[in-house]
Amino acid sequence: MTLLLAAILLLLGLGLLTISRRQRKTAGLPPGAIIYTDAGDWRRNERPLFSDRYRLAGKPDYLVRQGREVIPVEVKSTSLRGREPYDSHKMQLAAYCLLVEDALGVRPSHGVLKYADIAIRVDYTDDLRRGVLSILDEMRRALHARDIPRSHDDPRRCRACGYRDVCDDAL
Ligand code: SF4
Repeated sequence: MTLLLAAILLLLGLGLLTISRRQRKTAGLPPGAIIYTDAGDWRRNERPLFSDRYRLAGKPDYLVRQGREVIPVEVKSTSLRGREPYDSHKMQLAAYCLLVEDALGVRPSHGVLKYADIAIRVDYTDDLRRGVLSILDEMRRALHARDIPRSHDDPRRCRACGYRDVCDDAL
């Protein structure tokens, strides 16, 4: 009887493991333990990451532990349909990598951009890190500037912008 019970529990455990692996694959998450999440269907994350050093705060949708590393995952509801991820998405993910590095003390090797149709690994290279640091510098300088010129020529962005009514530069 005890043996039968042990066999049933083992089968149940294996079944749950297979289901959780399948769900993880569907979600496009890298293997590893999720340590916190901030995505709709999951528990709401109340714990943003802070970096005093870079004066930066943010909440990645998921943080996945892989060995000593913690990998940030940013979820987008749109599909890529074979296109490259937007630079702005890569920079947002790079900012999360920087936050993980400073707040948790271990530099991640990469982050993950999870779209509706695909999950993309983005390596957190020295170039990407330099890129995000330079954007942060630019943003800090812009905070003290009197007049900031428009940074794009895209009328669609202006149409969707919440500042359109008060912006003199709107297209
Ligand atoms: S309306 Fe102004 S602030 Fe908004 S996107 Fe256009 S230029 Fe930028």
